[in-house]
Amino acid sequence: MAFLKPDRYFSRISRIDIERDLLGCGFKSVLMDVDNTILTRDTHEVPRDVGAWLARARDAGLDFCLVSNNWHEGVYQLADRLELPIVAKAIKPLPPAFLMALRKIGAKRATTVVIGDQLITDVLGAHFLGMTAYMLQPLVEQDLPHTLMLRHVERLIMGDRKPEEAPAGVPVTGASATAQQNTASCSQVER
Ligand SMILES: [Mg+2]
Repeated sequence: MAFLKPDRYFSRISRIDIERDLLGCGFKSVLMDVDNTILTRDTHEVPRDVGAWLARARDAGLDFCLVSNNWHEGVYQLADRLELPIVAKAIKPLPPAFLMALRKIGAKRATTVVIGDQLITDVLGAHFLGMTAYMLQPLVEQDLPHTLMLRHVERLIMGDRKPEEAPAGVPVTGASATAQQNTASCSQVER
C-alpha cells in the first residue's frame, strides 16, 4: 500500500519550498504533470502563483520536463509557452514516458521527483521506477469523468491525510496550523 502513497502531499505547487523540499532533499530535476497540477482544467490557465513558482525553481537550477497523458495540441502549446520539454500521450503510470522524460533532460531517477495531482498516474508511475512522488491537491474540482472516478479511489487510499501547508517561516493559523503538524522532512520519506 505504501507504494500508492505519495512521499509528500501539498495543497498546491507554490506550497513546495524550493530550497527546503527540493534542493535541500537532493533533487535536481522534476518530472511535472500538467492538467490540474500547473494548468487549470476548467479555464486552461497557469495560475499566477504557479507561474511564479516555476520561474523561481528554474532560476534556482532545477531542470523540468512535463509528462502528460494529455494528447491535445494545447499541451504542446503550453510547453512551448513555458519553454519546457514535454513528453505527452504518456500513458502514465506506465514507465516508458517517464524514462523518455528522464533521458530528455539528462536526469537520474535518484535525484528526480515526480510532481502531480493523481495517485494512480503520477504517484504510482514514480514509484514503479523508484522515484519520489510529491502529490498536490488538484487546482480545480473539474476534471475528466474517468479522473473523477479515480478520485474516489484516491480518497480511500489517502484517508484523512491533510496536505502540508505553509513553508517554514510563513505564519500559519487555524486549520493550516494543524496541517503543518503533518509536515514531513525529506529524511523522513520512506516507502
Ligand atoms: Mg493531472
